[in-house]
Amino acid sequence: MGRLIYLDNNATTQMAPEVLNAITEAQSVVYGNASSMHTFGREAQRLVEQARDNIASLLDCDSSEITFTSGASEANNTVFMIAKSLIEKRGSGRIVTTTIEHPSIMETVKYLRKCGIHVDQAPVAADGSVKLDEFEKLMGPDVVLVSVMTGNNETGTIQPIETISQIAHKYGAFMHTDATQAIGKLELSCRKWNLDYLSCSGHKFYGPKGVGVLYAKKGIPYEPFVHGGEQEHGRRAGTYNTIAIYGMGVAAKLAKENIDEESRRLWAMREKLREGIVAKVPNIVVNGCSDRQHCLPGTLDVSFENVEGESILLMLDMAGIAVSTGSACATGSLEPSYVLMAGGLDVELAHGSIRFSFGRFNTMEDVDYVLEVLPPIISRLRAISTR
Ligand code: PMP
Repeated sequence: MGRLIYLDNNATTQMAPEVLNAITEAQSVVYGNASSMHTFGREAQRLVEQARDNIASLLDCDSSEITFTSGASEANNTVFMIAKSLIEKRGSGRIVTTTIEHPSIMETVKYLRKCGIHVDQAPVAADGSVKLDEFEKLMGPDVVLVSVMTGNNETGTIQPIETISQIAHKYGAFMHTDATQAIGKLELSCRKWNLDYLSCSGHKFYGPKGVGVLYAKKGIPYEPFVHGGEQEHGRRAGTYNTIAIYGMGVAAKLAKENIDEESRRLWAMREKLREGIVAKVPNIVVNGCSDRQHCLPGTLDVSFENVEGESILLMLDMAGIAVSTGSACATGSLEPSYVLMAGGLDVELAHGSIRFSFGRFNTMEDVDYVLEVLPPIISRLRAISTR
């Protein structure tokens, strides 16, 4: 196989070698059920609790506020179902979220509306940031939950979560953020941001897949989404996925140690690629945020006029470069990205968008290679374009 470059780290990341080593060693010896009272169970539980402490330290919250889930999708669903239950108990209430959330929220919103729950979605500006004045217009004393993602998976735009949290609390609502793309790249603080709920997923920060976290502030309303056993103090039933949880904990520790250097490195690669594309390829639009303070450091989303994103993706794949059009979760549908459209991008440009997402294992040489391969691909595709 020739050179292979993975630039789809927002879809998922490769496990860090430290994580892989730790779980490989653990999984042959730690096989007890973490809920069992004997030695085997207690050893499994020790690994789970170690992970809980590492995650709590990364999120700046108390370990008792962490519930392990199967991923961010489950964590997001749980929060919205808690809000549904609160609204049903009170006999009134609303949820306020945005038009650019991940499908695990967008689809849950559709489901809740079918159940008769009122959900409002705040619009975003062209750079992908939530329009705060429009958001505040949607607020009122009847709002039970506000949910705004920390950083967008497609554009990388970061939202002012601390400010949004203050607004939510001013109206007496609970504040949730989906921090799945931000974890390990931004300093997150449940305490400083005064969050009530936060979701994230292990596989986006070099941990295993199929494991995630729901942070819920002490004393805040909670209802299990998965009913059954007494695991997680009755908050999430199901035998502990001990090894994956442990691996995610190791990844959290690494993330905390490396966050500043990692972010600087990702931003340098992103900027080099952006500058190179702007210099070498005419008729493009860089989507979303533009400065480091408002961008997830490793995300670059670009629209190429007069070309289909899928064609670019396939040609880059043939050249050994893995990227994405829109979000991976939306692949399979030929609908243009709702995130880009929400920012006001025209439909043709939304069809020609590519997301490059950098990670820990990318290098500047990867950027050089993309800048060598991409411009002739775009020229060739434009030459045969019928658009
Ligand atoms: N939220 C965001 C912002 C994401 O990017 C993703 C993963 N694409 C999720 C939630 C869902 O994570 P998981 O698939 O691990 O449940």
